[in-house]
Amino acid sequence: MSFWEKIKQTLRSFMNGRNGVDQLGMTLLWGGLALNLLSSILGSFVNRPLLAVVSMLLSFAGLAAYVFCIYRMFSRNLEKRRAENRRYVAFCDRQKKKRTQAVNRFKNRKIYKYFKCPGCKAWLRLKRGSGVVTITCSRCHTSFTQKS
Ligand SMILES: [Zn+2]
Repeated sequence: MSFWEKIKQTLRSFMNGRNGVDQLGMTLLWGGLALNLLSSILGSFVNRPLLAVVSMLLSFAGLAAYVFCIYRMFSRNLEKRRAENRRYVAFCDRQKKKRTQAVNRFKNRKIYKYFKCPGCKAWLRLKRGSGVVTITCSRCHTSFTQKS
């Protein structure tokens, strides 16, 4: 067995039963790097005590992200780590969906009038130029009048 094969196998047996790197881990890694970078940029402004404090806090947050990332990588509590990652991925999906919807509302703003339901705050739309319409929300069944 070659030297590298041996190292690979040792690493594999060490990581066996541990969480390793998942989506949340990658975000913590990149997030920690970004925080440290921002911290050193802000820290380079001398004679600005407030920036120095912010820089220190960012650097501390970056360190915390690294520590949490490494802790999760080597953790043997797979159930808990996977649940964390699932929640994180679901959160990202929701944010992505919100962004896509906002882009679509902007794109179609001349065709549709967008507004929020006063009952459940869901986004609704009306074709522009249909006048004043009484609407019943399909989600919470609140009725209200809306100008289009
Ligand atoms: Zn509603």
